[in-house]
Amino acid sequence: MRKKYTGYSSYSYLEAGRDYKPFRLARQLGRVESSIVPLSKAEEERVEEILEKNIAISFHDHGIVFPEDPGEFLEYSRRGRMWIAYEGLAASGLDAYFEGLMDGIALSDGPDPWSWSSVVRQIGLFASDIDHQDLLFIARRAEDAVKAHREGRIAVYLHLEGPPRIGLDLDRVDVLYGLGARCMGIAYSRGNEFAGGLADKKDNGLTDLGYELVDRMNKLGMLIDLAHAGDKTSLEVIEASRRPVAITHAGARALWPSRRMKPDEVIQALAEKNGVFGVEASPHTTLTKDNPRHTLESIMKHFEYIAELAGIRHVAFGPDTLFGDHVALHKVFAGELSIHAAAKENLPPYREVSFVDGLENPSQFTNIVRWLVKHGYSDQEISLVIGGNIERLLRETII
Ligand SMILES: [Zn+2]
Repeated sequence: MRKKYTGYSSYSYLEAGRDYKPFRLARQLGRVESSIVPLSKAEEERVEEILEKNIAISFHDHGIVFPEDPGEFLEYSRRGRMWIAYEGLAASGLDAYFEGLMDGIALSDGPDPWSWSSVVRQIGLFASDIDHQDLLFIARRAEDAVKAHREGRIAVYLHLEGPPRIGLDLDRVDVLYGLGARCMGIAYSRGNEFAGGLADKKDNGLTDLGYELVDRMNKLGMLIDLAHAGDKTSLEVIEASRRPVAITHAGARALWPSRRMKPDEVIQALAEKNGVFGVEASPHTTLTKDNPRHTLESIMKHFEYIAELAGIRHVAFGPDTLFGDHVALHKVFAGELSIHAAAKENLPPYREVSFVDGLENPSQFTNIVRWLVKHGYSDQEISLVIGGNIERLLRETII
């Protein structure tokens, strides 16, 4: 589990105040008192052994630390300069993760978070910081997760939750691939020229240009993500794609009637084509009627349901967490993150939380392993759901 963290902090090669505006950032570890699944000594040892022998991969997270004061979130996102949570990630037990950058809230180029220049700027600033240290590296191949495990490092798979504004210029997908992007959503909540999003009143499915995008992503070796796509679009992409696809962060609509969750039909179709579903943990998403307070327990209800429905080889975890006050972030960026649309949904009553107890940020990924050990899962099952399934999918989709 020991990762090669030497104390590097983002942009320490530049001069604070002169080259960039510094922010007072949230604590990466222990910001709030988030529970840890209690285990016996023998169980603790088993968790350590599992993490030592297996590859742990998160299907979706934001390994970024936000300002302590939510009043500074807007300015932070407008500058586009992200601080990477090296300390927190080193403690996560993860060998690799899919990095969502500031997807949906990148405002450095104006009010459209999906402008081409804003997305390219984010990737560049992020990769520049990465290249000044050794713990993290940008992953380009499937085997990079294994390499990271062997070397005590962390492989970062760049993951765009939706396509930036590329218009008719599909070559820009090649550009994104060249910059390191290995996974991309077909639509981010709102529909676009390619496909329908989950927030659309009417999902029109894949357009002709959308079919071309699927084909280009298949050829390049860029994994297609349906987390923010509409249901009809999802079924059409699963059908059209020559390679298996992913739903990197969502839950089961059978347990919680939100559009952000996926219906059984989509989950089953995904699994039949050998895809993988990542269970989401972002605040107030993976709730259930019996668990109206969002905690690790309600998240794991979604995991158990999807594992039962799709099979253990088709489920993983994409917690979609970050370092800082995630609930406050949802309030600041409600417009960009289609939370207004979600607020109009007729959901059963639930209790608002100030953080998700047990899975507050990416450093708590090991808590998932602890929960699985405590609930009697075998070493083989745990190995598959904490990384093995994603590793297999990577080998079938990217090179
Ligand atoms: Zn998302």
